[in-house]
Formats: sequence, structure tokens, C-alpha cells
Amino acid sequence: MAQVERNGPGGTGGMSWDEGLAPELAWTIWWMDRVTSSVGYPLRVSSGFRSREKQAELYERWKAGLSGLPAAPPGTSKHEIGLAVDVVWQKTGLREPFDGGWQALGRLGERLGLVWGGRFSTPDPVHFELPAERITP
Ligand SMILES: [Zn+2]
Repeated sequence: MAQVERNGPGGTGGMSWDEGLAPELAWTIWWMDRVTSSVGYPLRVSSGFRSREKQAELYERWKAGLSGLPAAPPGTSKHEIGLAVDVVWQKTGLREPFDGGWQALGRLGERLGLVWGGRFSTPDPVHFELPAERITP
């Protein structure tokens, strides 16, 4: 994913975007970026693998109302086991580059076999994760 910045804000703390991720997830995110880049909207991974400490920090921010995006309690996030990624638009960050942009991206991720956070009870449109049945031991 050459176009994707390796260290986004809020993100991976000096690691490459795919470090610590399940290969199947990294590969699928790479494909999503290829598709969106082909129509002029490259992606940036804003958060991939997270330590327990990083998850706790994000959860505290969410609970304090300091984050517009939800975070799971530490010990329960798929990010902590390398099975989830948050992506934003490389050009505009969280802002949608076109009408229905997150919906379109969510559908793309689902077609590629991922679970999209936009359908969670507390919607998290930047979040994609590998479903349990696709995890290869
Ligand atoms: Zn996430």
C-alpha cells in the first residue's frame, strides 16, 4: 500500500501500518486501498495494531467525550490482537470525499469479507475487522 502513509496521527506509534496485523486483514486493506485509489480516493490507516495501554488511552478519551469515534474497553478490542484496522481518507481525513463515502467504503470492505464498524450499535465507520471464520490459525 505504497500510497498509504505509514504513521498516521492517532495511530501506530512508529510502526508500519501493517505491523502486528493478521496477514489476511493487511492484504484485504491493501486491496481496499487499490480500489479506492483507482477512483482518486486513497486510504490511510489511522490505527492498526494497538497495545493494551494505547487501547486504554483511547477508551478513556471516548468515555471523557474527547473522541468522536467509539473505543472498546481495553482487553476487548480486535485492534489489540491484530484483527482490526481504522482507515480514513488520505486527502480529507474523516471528512467524506463524496456523498455516501463511508457507506461505499463499508460495502466495499464487506464485499471483501470484512466486518464493517459502520453497522455497530454505536457506529464506527472507520473500523474494519476480520471475522472469526476467516482467521487462519
Ligand atoms: Zn477500530
